[in-house]
Amino acid sequence: MSRIIFMNDRLVPEEQAVVSVFDHGLLYGDGVFEGLRSYSGKVFRIDAHLDRLYDSARAICLTIPLAKEAVAKAVNDTLAANGLADGYVRLVVTRGAGSLGLDPNKTKHPQVIVIADTISLYPREFYEQGLRIVTAATQRTHSAALSPRIKSLNYLNNIMAKLEGLQAGCVEALMLNHKGEVAECTGDNVFIVRGGRLLTPPPDAGILEGITRNAVLDLAVAAGIDCREATLVRHDLYTADECFLTGTAAEVIPVVEIDGRRIGSGVPGPVTKRLTDDFHALVRS
Ligand code: PMP
Repeated sequence: MSRIIFMNDRLVPEEQAVVSVFDHGLLYGDGVFEGLRSYSGKVFRIDAHLDRLYDSARAICLTIPLAKEAVAKAVNDTLAANGLADGYVRLVVTRGAGSLGLDPNKTKHPQVIVIADTISLYPREFYEQGLRIVTAATQRTHSAALSPRIKSLNYLNNIMAKLEGLQAGCVEALMLNHKGEVAECTGDNVFIVRGGRLLTPPPDAGILEGITRNAVLDLAVAAGIDCREATLVRHDLYTADECFLTGTAAEVIPVVEIDGRRIGSGVPGPVTKRLTDDFHALVRS
C-alpha cells in the first residue's frame, strides 16, 4: 500500500517523496527529527515535540522553512491523508542539497518531511513480564562533542549500543555517559524506583529530554509520588526496587533484568504499573 507523505509544502504519493543524493541529511546525518504519536486522532504533546524540533534545529543553525503552525498542520494532514487515528509520525528536517563538502552554508532548501505509519509495538509479553537489558560498552556521546539534547539525524552512537543489545539478545541497551553515570537507553529514557521514590537522570547526564519522560514526571507529581532528577550509576539500578523505560513508541515499559541481575522482585512493580495506567489514561484523555 502506497502511503501519502508530506514533502515541504504538499502531500505526495510515497513514490514521489524523494530527496537528492546531495542532501546533507543523507551525506552527513545533518538534520533533525522527531517521533510523534497520535491517539484517537489527537497527536500527543505536539507542541512539546515541535518545540524540541525547533530547538534542535536552532542548535545546529538550521532554519526550518515553515512556521510551527504549518508543521503542526502538516503532521495532522499526513495522519488524516493516511487514514490513521492511532499512528506514529516521523518528522524530518534535512539540511538540504549542497556540495560534497561539509559546509552547511553551501546547501539550499532544507527538506521538511512527514511520514505517518502504523505504530509497531513491542510484543505484549514485554509489557507484562518486563524487559531484560544490558549495559552497552558504547558510551553516550559526550555532550561537549555533540549534545544528546539535539535530536539529530546522527544516531550512530545509539545504533552502536543497540547492536550490542541485540547481540546480547536484548531489544534495548543501557548507555552510560563518559563519567560512567547512567544516561539513557538507545531510544528510551530510564527511571528507577527506590524506597517509594522515583528517580531519573537529569538532562546534564547527557540525555535526550524525552517528552514521555516529562509526562511521566508530571503524572508522578499528580499521583503524590516523590520524584526527582538524580545522578545514577549502575549500582543504583542493580539495587533498585523497580526500573522502567519511557519513550514515544514504547510508552512506559518495565525492566526486570539488567546485565543478568534481577531488578527488585523480577516482575513489574506497583509504581511502574500505576504510572503505566496513568499514562494510558493521559494519552486517551
Ligand atoms: N532518548 C533517546 C535517545 C531517544 O531517541 C528517544 C526517543 N525519541 C527518547 C529518549 C525518548 O523520548 P520521547 O519520550 O520524546 O520519545
